[in-house]
Amino acid sequence: MSSAALSAVAGPPRGASDESDPTGIDMTQHLTADCYERWSALGRDNQPIDPADAAAILHGDGIDLLPLVHAAGQVRRVFFGQSVTIHVLDNVRNGACPEDCGYCGQSKDSDAAVRPYKIKSVEEIVGQALDAQRSGAYRFCMALSGRGPTDRDVEHMCQAIRRIKSHGIRTCLSAGLLDDEKARRLKEAGLDRLNHNLNTSASHYAQVCTTHTFEDRLGTLRAAREAGIGLCSGLIVGMGESYDDLVEVACTLRELRAESIPVNFLLPIEGNRLRQPCSGGRALDPAFVLRVLCMVRLVNPTAEVRIAAGREHHLRSLQSLALWPANSLFMEGYLLSEGQSAGETLKMIFDAGFEPVLDNPSAVPPELRELVENQAPRASGGAVTELKPAVRGAAKGFVPVKALTVRGSD
Ligand code: SF4
Repeated sequence: MSSAALSAVAGPPRGASDESDPTGIDMTQHLTADCYERWSALGRDNQPIDPADAAAILHGDGIDLLPLVHAAGQVRRVFFGQSVTIHVLDNVRNGACPEDCGYCGQSKDSDAAVRPYKIKSVEEIVGQALDAQRSGAYRFCMALSGRGPTDRDVEHMCQAIRRIKSHGIRTCLSAGLLDDEKARRLKEAGLDRLNHNLNTSASHYAQVCTTHTFEDRLGTLRAAREAGIGLCSGLIVGMGESYDDLVEVACTLRELRAESIPVNFLLPIEGNRLRQPCSGGRALDPAFVLRVLCMVRLVNPTAEVRIAAGREHHLRSLQSLALWPANSLFMEGYLLSEGQSAGETLKMIFDAGFEPVLDNPSAVPPELRELVENQAPRASGGAVTELKPAVRGAAKGFVPVKALTVRGSD
């Protein structure tokens, strides 16, 4: 561990039975308040904590959860205020994927009960985007299963993107591996953001998938960046990785300047090869999930950190605490599993004193309108706030926009 402030971390490290302490320090005492304050001050200044400190957050039993959550929350507050961006997933093509990603129910090797269907028609996709817009959506994300889109798939999606953009709706696409040419065509059609998760570290990648490589994934992200498409890329926690793998992928996402980082927690889906969520040799628990979210925030201060799949399952009663490190979440389920309803999610956000980012509060479904109207003034001192995360590298603060984001994940 690099810092003198970390000379006081307590107890045996979490996961000590299967991982040695990489920091080389005597973890015999709780961290001092100075240490949390130093992490917070770095983040507020858009400086990442160093990898050794990030590892200590995951390893040390001497970490006190509330000071850690508070430190991460102070950082998110500088860049995102109290806003929570709500995302909804939409699948454009489901199942029948030739890849062997061990966490995915759409993989050729999975026995998970998935209803495969072919790519939806352009009409159907545009219709769903317009439905999303009528519900207050600002960004619409289309997720295609598969290794990567064919030329025909790209043309199909370009047609859909052009038409969706003509209605003033921002677009996201999750479509697997892309080369420079496909990324360029999608950008020309108007694609705003590409979702392509790194999922885990380079060294752990082969344990997760053998049909493509970590380098393939990096290549897709580079192609998207080169084409001028925004990057949404995250991780999946619980695939048997070490804590250092989690730190490594968080740091790689920082190097890539990912604007948006979805943090997934493996769901135990029957039929998938990876279905026993564990990290550092231990099952996931709510406190560890919070540590991971805080670590990702402190390594990536200005990124939109999203609590993605597994929020309800792994955080359980500590869900609302995750809103301090994270400023974004999915609601109403994930690609292959159900999640908390819109009403429950909004209530949790308001109860914790945060503000959902809504394009048009009057477009909220009638059954939720009363909740929004009654709770918003209490949370924000006014109407529901419309905020967009500051772009990475930009000055601190917010850019007012109209946004309820809808996106997918691959
Ligand atoms: S994550 Fe994507 S590429 Fe991997 S099996 Fe699932 S659909 Fe296929």
